[in-house]
Amino acid sequence: MNDSSQAAAALATGEASGFIRQMIARDLARGKHAGRVHTRFPPEPNGHLHIGHAKSICLNFGIAEEYGGHCNLRFDDTNPLKESQEFVDAIKQSIRWLGFRWHGEVRYSSSYFAQLHEFARQLIGKGKAYVCALSPEQIREYRGSLTEPGTPSPWRDREARESLALFERMRAGEFADGALSLRARIDMASPNINMRDPVLYRIRHAAHHQTGTQWPIYPTYDYTHCISDALENITHSLCTLEFEDHRPLYDWILANLDLDSLSEASSLGDSAAPFVLPEQTEFAKLRLSYTLLGKRFLRALVEGGKVDGWDDPRMPTLAGMRRRGYTPGAIRNFCEAVGVARAESVVDIAMLEHAIREDLDHNAPRAMCVLRPLKVVLDNFPAERRQVLRLARHPKRPELGEREVPLTRELWIESDDFSESPPAGFKRLVAGGEVRLRGAYVIRCHEVLRDESGGIRELRCCVDFDTLGKRPEGRKVKGVIHWVAADEAKPVELRLYDRLFLHENPAPKSVAEVFGELNPDSFERLENCMLEPAALDGGEHFQFERVGYFVRDRAAVGNGAAVFNRTIHLRDSWGAVR
Ligand code: ATP
Ligand code: MG
Repeated sequence: MNDSSQAAAALATGEASGFIRQMIARDLARGKHAGRVHTRFPPEPNGHLHIGHAKSICLNFGIAEEYGGHCNLRFDDTNPLKESQEFVDAIKQSIRWLGFRWHGEVRYSSSYFAQLHEFARQLIGKGKAYVCALSPEQIREYRGSLTEPGTPSPWRDREARESLALFERMRAGEFADGALSLRARIDMASPNINMRDPVLYRIRHAAHHQTGTQWPIYPTYDYTHCISDALENITHSLCTLEFEDHRPLYDWILANLDLDSLSEASSLGDSAAPFVLPEQTEFAKLRLSYTLLGKRFLRALVEGGKVDGWDDPRMPTLAGMRRRGYTPGAIRNFCEAVGVARAESVVDIAMLEHAIREDLDHNAPRAMCVLRPLKVVLDNFPAERRQVLRLARHPKRPELGEREVPLTRELWIESDDFSESPPAGFKRLVAGGEVRLRGAYVIRCHEVLRDESGGIRELRCCVDFDTLGKRPEGRKVKGVIHWVAADEAKPVELRLYDRLFLHENPAPKSVAEVFGELNPDSFERLENCMLEPAALDGGEHFQFERVGYFVRDRAAVGNGAAVFNRTIHLRDSWGAVR
């Protein structure tokens, strides 16, 4: 099947999920855009990518994969003051990590600056743009409001020749920031404020991370984006809803440029394909409960020292989620489950948590790790004996094999797994009671030893050697607890994370408000946790039984011990250790 019959089939079976895929399948079936699909992901390198961007990445790259098209990565870098190479690099890394590959070289809007400048001269020549001497504040005042039309700039009818000359002097760096701007000449009475002679170029004497000090003038986002799309032969320009009101401007700019020169310049893209203008379609941004996604706020958290960098495991950035133990597969599954719609809604964070649990439940090997160790001595277990138990790495996947777990006379168990005043229903160890050691024997506690201050120092227990892999005779032992051999356990540091925000829908209006909504207990560090020895040698992701899913954090500096971050706690909290 070729792409268009495949698309038609997908349409017929309803396989093309979501309105954008439906639209693309329809376009392909009709041979629109010369039967091509070429999308782009256009981040501004002014921060790290977050889970919202993952939705857009999965959509743009996913569509290209599904329909045999291409997806470009283009840095939308027209604002040198907030952008940096550090963010360019981090963004590329996150996209690769998610498992997507962009078409050809990385693109930069800034590499089209010369072309954009040429097109601006074309618009001026046609009387479609003029150099305006109103200050940025005056431009705002003259713009009018939703209920009142704007007031034309006194420079609106400036002759093209004069505007061209001034624009060249702007480009030569003769004027100070804000002294002049280039504006499109559209309609000061338009009900759409974006069409009231929007600014196309502003003067900004600032060095740019890609172009250095070559340019003292920078094009605006609206002017740059549509032309960059056209130059790259993009067919479907997918963006979020806040750009809906900008679409008429997107179309206006392309319609007022000379199609031949646009087509000629666009040989940057697919040279063999006939030239078609790109079309913009909007979808709803991802919003997530208990989470804030705007880069402005994330940057404030980093710069305000509220988190430990952009990749702090509590951050909703892809770099942070990666350190937290989220996997690319889980994030992609989540994005697919969320879908792409036009209506705004808040997605329950439980959906994201479900996606990672499902992935790790299937893929993460099991291990035992004691968070808050309490010593147990098995009185009837010979001191010199070392019994090696072979336990499944994964209870449901025998193909993952077994691990060796040593059992010795002295063990660590979870201090919460012993109680002197057990609440009703307590199924773990009590004085005089029995419990099963996970994968090993049933033990009975017959003595509690204390330190000088009366705290519990150790438990003396004895083993029922007749209970390995079978039920004890004549009695029921319900509880099963995790444990590690004291002499062989590896001390590790565990870092437990909770939600960064207290409220389900954080809606701060300012940075100060963001700081006020933070959960003060979102991070807990536990040193001297005891991990079963084999786990340090293999793998990154684990389910520490009854404790949660963890990931080794090789970037973290602990107290000399290995550090593991808790990705997420277990689904069923029964018997789980908090
Ligand atoms: P932020 O508000 O977080 O700064 P942005 O839209 O300014 O986001 P860009 O770097 O300009 O960030 O975005 C790159 C692409 O990602 C754009 O096409 C944008 O529409 C999309 N995008 C940004 N946030 C989301 C989101 N929450 N859900 C889906 N797509 C998003
Ligand atoms: Mg932006």
